[in-house]
Amino acid sequence: MKLSITELKRERKITKNEIQGHALYIKKLFEKRGIEMAKDPVCGMYVDESESDLKIDYNEKTYYFCNVACKQSFEKNPKDYIE
Ligand SMILES: [Zn+2]
Repeated sequence: MKLSITELKRERKITKNEIQGHALYIKKLFEKRGIEMAKDPVCGMYVDESESDLKIDYNEKTYYFCNVACKQSFEKNPKDYIE
């Protein structure tokens, strides 16, 4: 399944709330199919754990990212994104 959320975000055609709503919708969709989704701690998007190469092990936890930019932000300041 191809998601155009990144493109929409780049063009600023959708608001942050719409992105969150879309992310939750995608999460539910995947859960119905029995696929675990991890939350990108930087932008709040949900990522398919089994298909993502964009991950970091930090403090004995694995964090997944939707794209390289989010991963790099996390690498710079991991504490900013962990609650
Ligand atoms: Zn992200």
